[in-house]
Amino acid sequence: KYKQRIPVSGDDEVAQLGESIQSLGEQLQDFEDSRNEFLATVSHELRTPLTYIKGYSDILNKGIVKKQEEQVEYLKIINKEANRITFLVNDLFDMSKFEVGKFELNKELASINPIIKKVVSNLKPEADEKGLILTASLSEVTYISIDSQRMEQAIYNLVENAIKYTNEGKVTVKTYQKNELIVIEVEDTGIGIPTNHLSSIWERFYRVDKSRTRKTGGSGLGLYVVKNIIQSHNGDIRVESTEDKGSTFTIHLN
Ligand code: ADP
Repeated sequence: KYKQRIPVSGDDEVAQLGESIQSLGEQLQDFEDSRNEFLATVSHELRTPLTYIKGYSDILNKGIVKKQEEQVEYLKIINKEANRITFLVNDLFDMSKFEVGKFELNKELASINPIIKKVVSNLKPEADEKGLILTASLSEVTYISIDSQRMEQAIYNLVENAIKYTNEGKVTVKTYQKNELIVIEVEDTGIGIPTNHLSSIWERFYRVDKSRTRKTGGSGLGLYVVKNIIQSHNGDIRVESTEDKGSTFTIHLN
């Protein structure tokens, strides 16, 4: 609706004002478009797990499934899908805090290594299940001022992705000191990211392959959350990736 303004041409002040109003209108329209797209995406993301929960709980409710193993199987699906909603809502909540600048850190002096050890041991079962070798190679690093919980969340997302997008081989998490900086690397031998997608993966809800990711069940908010957590620590994060060879995400903190 904003884009159909009558063009005002000329170089007087009225024309300039007309142009400014038009450009403002276009920006508002862009905002409106992305808001609509956002709402559509969130609704879809919520609807999918809810459909499973509704479907399987209906079946169980009718009492037609007699075998106990089958009942347990359905309950597991319901539980998994409920978790998916919880993760999504948590990420959305963080997102709203990033967007309005209300994201706060609880910083304290800490070492990054115990955080990585915890993430690696938590994700070991997922790696084992896929036959992947998940290891941490940690060298002595200085204590820095960080929000340990948030840092754990960021590293968890990276390692979880590395496992999700790797079919064989290994996932390695490294830490080392480089002058004043602490470097954290999450390296995998996975499917990699095509060059033309590399700059977009940090955007909220962005996925390289929507159909493939649907199966793996991510929301597309993972890297967006990671980027915001690292940036709020004044750190930086970058990625190098080769298709069919693997990816390395590197964080620098000081
Ligand atoms: P998702 O929930 O889809 O995993 P993310 O924001 O965490 O969302 O990641 C965005 C996209 O970046 C993913 O859908 C995937 O296509 C790509 N990606 C992220 N990490 C990796 C990785 N380690 N290897 C290959 N692709 C990755």
